[in-house]
Amino acid sequence: MNYFWLYHKDLRDNNWLFYNETIENGWSLRIRERYAKLRCSKCKKFDEIKALKLGLEDNIKLKCKYDIFITDDGFICVNQKVKKLLEKLKVKNIKFINIPNEKQFSILLPKKEAKVDMKKCGMKFYKLCKSCGRYGYTLYNPLLSSIKLPKSLMQMVFPNINFENGYGRIYIYLLSEDLVNKFKAAKVTGVEYDKAR
Ligand SMILES: [Zn+2]
Repeated sequence: MNYFWLYHKDLRDNNWLFYNETIENGWSLRIRERYAKLRCSKCKKFDEIKALKLGLEDNIKLKCKYDIFITDDGFICVNQKVKKLLEKLKVKNIKFINIPNEKQFSILLPKKEAKVDMKKCGMKFYKLCKSCGRYGYTLYNPLLSSIKLPKSLMQMVFPNINFENGYGRIYIYLLSEDLVNKFKAAKVTGVEYDKAR
């Protein structure tokens, strides 16, 4: 079976879950107060799942005209159309997290992550933080042969590896060809599919 990496189109507007972005008096980005204590004193990254468990704030406003997008802090959000499609197709291993006061979009998270053989994954890892063990950033996606893939035909797989950028973890999913075809048939917007090797 073929698999495709799900990529997202660039947006005009920035969307953050854990930060407040202001443009008065010049651009600035501040972590929201309730998450500040989670940050590593050295690299400033924090456990995003722990942060989600602390809850999201009421004043998050997401701006996107597509069906799927990625927040600037790395989370995939899907609208009702995609949520219903994934539920109808009974795609396993995913769950949806509601955002307060946001009726259109939910956060998509893996229930269970697929195991990756780190030695064979072919990725590059840079700037390991000695304090929290997170990498500063990573390059490339893991090779398909290094991922233990589940067996069903309708799959959305998240490898158990942290894809990192300067802000934190980024969620990049792998879709089975059957699921990609369903997405295409439903004309899901905001995404591109890149065949995994
Ligand atoms: Zn750190």
